[in-house]
Amino acid sequence: MDIQRIESYMKRVEQSETETFQPVGNKFKVGLDLGTAYIVIVVLDEENNPIACEKQAHNFLKDGVVVDYSGTLRVVKELKKKLEDRISEKTGREVELIDCAIAMPAGTESSVKTHQYVAEGAGFEVVAVLDEPSAANAVYQISDGVIVDIGGGTTGLAILKDGKVVDIQDEPTGGTHLSLVLAGNYHISFDEAEVIKQDYSKHREILPILKPVVEKMASIIKKYVNLSETDTIYLCGGTCCLTGMEKIIEKETGIKTVKPENPFLVTPTGIAMNC
Ligand code: ATP
Repeated sequence: MDIQRIESYMKRVEQSETETFQPVGNKFKVGLDLGTAYIVIVVLDEENNPIACEKQAHNFLKDGVVVDYSGTLRVVKELKKKLEDRISEKTGREVELIDCAIAMPAGTESSVKTHQYVAEGAGFEVVAVLDEPSAANAVYQISDGVIVDIGGGTTGLAILKDGKVVDIQDEPTGGTHLSLVLAGNYHISFDEAEVIKQDYSKHREILPILKPVVEKMASIIKKYVNLSETDTIYLCGGTCCLTGMEKIIEKETGIKTVKPENPFLVTPTGIAMNC
């Protein structure tokens, strides 16, 4: 993996949250990520250049399952409209985003229809359905190793051999659990804990409090990874934004652990690449 290539590519995706880029060609590739904590839509052009991206925090999904259909649908419609307006303004032509790809956390395949109905209800046509860690590998392009996607609700793994996913696992324990621990420790609400957790200047102070949960995530990774055969763990997912958590995972597993600076947009971008 060329970490520098990925860093600069992902920086451009992050920039596309606030800046709309001029596309190459007429086709748009859309990745819709219905996550536990965020709904994210990434738009790429036909050469996979980042064009625009929108995200919205919500609580309409639990462990990858939609628990509030109309709330989810409303947010997806709003994000789609925002993106279409931004891209139309940038290109000077009326743009409608139609084709999209979606992804499911491993073990939630039975909910795929609901995710599809949300996408279709918002005016998309679903052209590809992926699993989340495999989507991340569209960005990482690893041939051997393990991708670990730590999101709001779960820690998911994809084990890769010769460029193919040979095993996928997903277990509860994600960013939500970190926030619950912080809330308990500081006697504050969950929402207040989320704000502290997402503040990079607080990460040094809160890491020791969160260490046992990160160790639990490491133990999930350890359970499924062949320690003698795996030389690198590639992290992605919003929870991996927590500064220093990669060091705890590296120490606990004994495997070199890397992450880009902005790991939260890797999976939605990989989803879009597969559109
Ligand atoms: P899942 O993959 O479990 O369905 P998701 O797709 O919503 O969930 P992500 O968007 O990858 O997950 O990550 C969301 C999590 O990342 C939330 O728990 C959020 O609090 C956490 N997070 C976001 N930004 C930061 C940050 N700067 N520092 C620490 N955690 C963060």
